[in-house]
Amino acid sequence: METRNDLDKTLTHYLKELHLPTVRECYEEQAERARRESLGYEHYLLDLLEREREVRRQNRIARLLHQSKLPLEKTLQTFDRMPRKVGAHVDVLLDGAFLDRAKNVLTFGNPGSGKTHLLCAIGQALVHQDRRVLFTPCSLLVQELLIAKRELTLARALKRLAQYDALIIDDIGYVQQNREEMEVLFALLADRYERRSVLITSNLPFSKWEQIFKDPMTTAAAIDRLVHHSIILELNLPSYRLEQSKRSKEK
Ligand code: ADP
Ligand code: MG
Repeated sequence: METRNDLDKTLTHYLKELHLPTVRECYEEQAERARRESLGYEHYLLDLLEREREVRRQNRIARLLHQSKLPLEKTLQTFDRMPRKVGAHVDVLLDGAFLDRAKNVLTFGNPGSGKTHLLCAIGQALVHQDRRVLFTPCSLLVQELLIAKRELTLARALKRLAQYDALIIDDIGYVQQNREEMEVLFALLADRYERRSVLITSNLPFSKWEQIFKDPMTTAAAIDRLVHHSIILELNLPSYRLEQSKRSKEK
């Protein structure tokens, strides 16, 4: 007959093989609890699997947060100057359903009005709901796509980006782009159109987007694709930093 020790050894071995680390850690402690509280077998199993599931969920969120490249200090809790109309939109965005419909979010406002902070905060909240998010400055994204294009791997790069439910492109149009750069950006927007969400911040109103996409046709086509299914957030606010430095001088 197997001794208790043998049984534990075999169990530990199986749980390792089956990749159930949390069950392995807790099964004894939970078994004692079950005996103490006279819990049934099913209840015991449920408790164990719930723990395994929760630890896995936490690990997955931590991994997604890391992969998202989001600045984690920009959260909704630290965002204190929400205009009412924007706040109403944000409440809707937070349930994440817009991602299933591949809707876009376009955020406009002066430099310092909080565009980047707000989208990052929304992005982080979505990761906590198990959504895949990637934050990237527009200029960096364009450079990466350009390299991929030159190496004839643009299609693969777009496919990799398509794994993300939400792509946050920060500061579109901030750096003047040449024609080749604009073309890869357009290819990305066309690729995601009606398939995956794009969340954009820009200091430039649409009327100035010809500076980004160079010719009127491409500009119109890009705006058309972005706006078709979109939510627009207007942060018509003075610079947060400027306001704060004024306030601290008044004190
Ligand atoms: P933008 O992207 O519009 O230029 P940022 O989001 O970078 O502006 O905001 C500039 C700075 O001010 C950042 O450090 C940001 O965290 C802070 N900030 C902006 N708006 C708010 C806000 N409503 N509450 C808290 N901090 C804010
Ligand atoms: Mg910004």
